[in-house]
Amino acid sequence: MDKMPKKKCPQLDKGGIVMEDCLFCKIIRGEVPSKKVYEDDEIYAFEDINPAAPIHILFVPKKHIESIAKIEKEDEALIGKIYNAINKIAEEKGVKDKGYRVVTNCGKDAGQTVKHLHFHLLAGTNMGEKLL
Ligand code: 5GP
Ligand code: ZN
Repeated sequence: MDKMPKKKCPQLDKGGIVMEDCLFCKIIRGEVPSKKVYEDDEIYAFEDINPAAPIHILFVPKKHIESIAKIEKEDEALIGKIYNAINKIAEEKGVKDKGYRVVTNCGKDAGQTVKHLHFHLLAGTNMGEKLL
């Protein structure tokens, strides 16, 4: 019996950007539709498909990074830029003064379901003082 051909693995995640099977990489490439809120050279932001608050937007680096646990020295500026983008959109959405929450889930115990670093911007309601 012929052996199944070994699947070539084109996945790169060290700044190589292309992650064929990653949902958020597909969204960034436009292969999966999304409701875009913001985009620049390094960042893409879109509405969460299952919003947990009236405003629920996901901010992702275009570079595939698995989670906040995997950021490296060279990513420091990128993380700052993501927070600037979050503030810009918070202002545009009229919640900059009212308040908003920014969350990034990292790993199993935090319930990270998509293994591509993302920051949730949650706003538009009083979320209270408790985080959990
Ligand atoms: P996590 O649980 O990994 O922190 O967050 C993943 C988020 O991605 C969830 O809030 C989930 O609703 C959202 N999500 C999952 N699949 C899709 C999708 O195909 N499109 C969009 N826009 N959001 C998604
Ligand atoms: Zn990815």
